[in-house]
Amino acid sequence: MPSAKARDNKALVATCVACGKNFSPEAMVALAGRVEGRARPFPVCVACADGGWRPPGFDGIYGYRPS
Ligand SMILES: [Zn+2]
Repeated sequence: MPSAKARDNKALVATCVACGKNFSPEAMVALAGRVEGRARPFPVCVACADGGWRPPGFDGIYGYRPS
């Protein structure tokens, strides 16, 4: 039976929308894109963001957070 701590750890994982891999939130950034005219954040890993991946309608702000 998984402990509460294990469940907490699992919750601290987000999926990169570019490569589909799971990362801890500290290894990810949110890029502001637009879907059907509405602003929407796209969570991607730092590797994808640094590699040039951008969401549709990207507004030019790359909110990189140095760790
Ligand atoms: Zn990625």
